[in-house]
Amino acid sequence: MTSSQTESPTPTERIPLLGSTSAEMRRSGPLANLPPYRARQVAHWLYARGETDFARMTDLPQPLREEFADRYSLSPDPVADLQKAANGEADKYLFRLPDGRLIESVLIRTPDRVTFCISSQAGCAYGCDFCATARMGPGRNLTVREIVSQVMALRRALVGEGREPVHNIVFMGMGEPLQNVENVIASLRLLQDPEGLGIGWRRITVSTVGLIPQILRLAESDVSARLAYSLSATTDEVRDALMPVNRKYPFREVFEALAAYQRRTRMPVTLEYVLLDGVNDADDDARRLGGFARDLGCKINLITYNPHPASPYRPTPPERVQRFLRLVEPLAPAVTLRQSKGQDILAACGQLSTRWREPAPGAEPRS
Ligand code: SF4
Repeated sequence: MTSSQTESPTPTERIPLLGSTSAEMRRSGPLANLPPYRARQVAHWLYARGETDFARMTDLPQPLREEFADRYSLSPDPVADLQKAANGEADKYLFRLPDGRLIESVLIRTPDRVTFCISSQAGCAYGCDFCATARMGPGRNLTVREIVSQVMALRRALVGEGREPVHNIVFMGMGEPLQNVENVIASLRLLQDPEGLGIGWRRITVSTVGLIPQILRLAESDVSARLAYSLSATTDEVRDALMPVNRKYPFREVFEALAAYQRRTRMPVTLEYVLLDGVNDADDDARRLGGFARDLGCKINLITYNPHPASPYRPTPPERVQRFLRLVEPLAPAVTLRQSKGQDILAACGQLSTRWREPAPGAEPRS
């Protein structure tokens, strides 16, 4: 187990291995007294082949399989609900954590790629005004096991579809990943480890509302990931109202941290911009946004809004989205437009669990 995880077994419980690298697996239980290749065998079965039953790890001697099954657990978190968009573009998973809390992950299909949108926290303290997860209030950080378990479950769901197991992973589900920065870093290490899930860092994006110390922490860590900054406003006045974190970390100061991140990774960050009708979609917003991207040398990802039932905001109409795009494009190095997927299954983060939710211990709903 990593020191940053919060699940610690009592002496009578089985030791959870999912979420540990093969080196970490050797720190406790029978694997501590066995040659390192035994832990590597278990890690290969678990992460490369998705096997969670020791009985089927056929290159381990039978007595070891039985001893490991007695002492270790490989269990992913169970699926509490699954909804599939009618057009096949998105599947939304609701997982039940060991303490009863619920988190969401979304599998998004486009013709050329599959994206896993995963959660990093159960709930969120940041109170962004347009976000369904914000209504849950502060929850808790997910452990490395709970983060990686989502990826493994979604990857398993793709078996049989004849597609590569994973194309892209985005930390854009419930929660602010950088508030859980140590477990997110440990998860990135395991996702990228050739003896773990072996996913290239360029395929993994961490999306943040702009926590400056943690952006710098990630930049200095031993792992890499693409970084996306959820901006969604071009003035402090509008961003203060939409995303209260702007009062602590004003976006112009965040830009300096993003520039440092780009220097460290040599990868352009992305400015994410959710278009809200009449709030942040004026011509001047488009020109300012394009100017920010030009000055930073970074990309822009425009996102159409997927409103949740209690939201006061509406999506920008399609003709205005196109006008906004035309104004931004000449200024920014690169612009993409992402249409929200799976409206019929409430695919934006937090929407399924807030509808479904049972009271979770310690969680104080705001509304
Ligand atoms: S947008 Fe992200 S940071 Fe903001 S409230 Fe929602 S989950 Fe939290």
